[in-house]
Amino acid sequence: MLLQSERGSFRGAAGGLRKRSDCKLLTSPARRTKSLNATTVSEGAKKEIACDSKVHYEFGGPLGVSALMVGFPLLMSYLYICLAVNHGHLQNPLRWDFWERGAPTIIPTQRAIIIYLSFNVFQYVTAATMPGIKVMGMPVPSLGGKQLEYLCNGIATWYVDLVLVAALHTSGWFPITTVVDEIGPIMSVAMLWGVIVTIGTYIVACVLGRTHRMSESIPYDIFMGAILNPRIGNVDLKMWSEIRIPWKILFFISLSAAVKDHEINVERELQAGITPELWSFSGGLIEMYKVKTSSPLLFMVLAHFLYANACMKGEECIPTTWDIFYEKWGYMLIFWNFAGVPFSYCYPTLYLLNRSLKNEPVHLTTAYTISLFITLLAAYYVWDTANSQKNRFRMMQHGTYVHRRAFPQLPWGTLHNPTYIKTKHGSKLLTGGWWGLARKIHYTADLVMALSWGLITGFDSYIPYFYVAFFSAVLVHRVGRDHVRCKEKYGADFDEYCRQVPYQCDETSETIRKRKHV
Ligand code: NDP
Repeated sequence: MLLQSERGSFRGAAGGLRKRSDCKLLTSPARRTKSLNATTVSEGAKKEIACDSKVHYEFGGPLGVSALMVGFPLLMSYLYICLAVNHGHLQNPLRWDFWERGAPTIIPTQRAIIIYLSFNVFQYVTAATMPGIKVMGMPVPSLGGKQLEYLCNGIATWYVDLVLVAALHTSGWFPITTVVDEIGPIMSVAMLWGVIVTIGTYIVACVLGRTHRMSESIPYDIFMGAILNPRIGNVDLKMWSEIRIPWKILFFISLSAAVKDHEINVERELQAGITPELWSFSGGLIEMYKVKTSSPLLFMVLAHFLYANACMKGEECIPTTWDIFYEKWGYMLIFWNFAGVPFSYCYPTLYLLNRSLKNEPVHLTTAYTISLFITLLAAYYVWDTANSQKNRFRMMQHGTYVHRRAFPQLPWGTLHNPTYIKTKHGSKLLTGGWWGLARKIHYTADLVMALSWGLITGFDSYIPYFYVAFFSAVLVHRVGRDHVRCKEKYGADFDEYCRQVPYQCDETSETIRKRKHV
């Protein structure tokens, strides 16, 4: 049944915090949160409730979100068709022959429906049943400070996926290349699915009286969502759809394209009379051609593997993020996670594959390619460790920190004894580690990775740069929204934080002196 027990009885926020500090996973910094006095707690809780219940129209209000809901699927279809039938060049979308030529490439097929929905069902089943750690989320103001439990078994399901995909491919039951062979129809199924789930969730939330922070506009609430914590059984659908669906699909698209590219290149060599070298195992029982995938496509596999793997290995950090504790489950998250992320962030991959199919592979210099690999890995390091520094700091504070060993655990991912600002609200704002250098340094690193995904395709098409352009707009908007929210929540303490951590490293001995140590 959708939407399990969200309505818990009202307990004062002090009760919520008491539970946090009693939590078994407490680490020493978290234990120190016990010293928060009752006045701080109730003031913080009041602010939390005020922030959580206020409706600010964003994205241009009802009209703006209606345009986005119609515009996203059209834009994705348009860009995909440009890639599929127009060599990645933009064409006038008002021309009828453009759609006439392109429509057949995106019409849903029975096969695409089976592939996409089976993947979703499999992801749900593994999320519900595989072993994993359980972490408590942030206190939910609308539930009187109650903390919900999240089963974080992403890493286990990820390894199962990888083994299963390898088995299906090598056995010939489901060659991984089927994904890119059917990519247009699968994208359309995903978009339709995103719309169906959005409308279904909205109706169920209204019927069950589980709505939260509603505006007076139906389109706006459909876009932003009606429900905060949708659950089926022990699976939080919002977190599940954000972690298990988009990034895994994105990786499998790139893997599929890389294998396809390899097969095309082997075939071409055979046709040209070149006998490909073989790797033999088990006395020749298993034979494999040497990898013939182009380096830009291998780059995309690495980039998408790193991103997907990071989401799985650090899943326990997700319950304390803004999307989970604040955003509702509406079109914005549903459509974007089911369709937008996997089928628009993959444009560089599809572009590279199409170039290979046309026998016009992208040629880059070795130095350029190597420098992009280095940039990707360096940006990934900053992104991964900045996220984990802040999220683990927050988890310690809330008593939900758990030590993980999921691969790879990078140096400086956890801060011991960091500097911070203690706010009147009760929460602490980290000013140590990467967070002492710049406030949104993880966004910057994420954007550098996004840019590298485009740069690896060269400069003949704009479409592979869609992700970095779109993502820049998303993050700029998110920075603004988060700033307003934090300012409301922390008041003058947030001003002090901004003063202590400006975007540039211009710390003075005075600001360092003022910092307190845990
Ligand atoms: P943040 O990780 O910036 O989270 C913002 C919240 O963190 C704030 O509201 C505040 O919450 C808390 N916070 C901010 N500063 C501090 C601090 N100094 N110390 C402690 N807590 C602080 O934002 P997101 O959740 O948007 O992003 C998480 C990651 O996901 C990023 O790396 C981002 O790039 C990535 N992302 C990727 C997307 C994609 O499509 N590829 C889309 C969106 C995000 P509070 O004080 O209430 O705890």
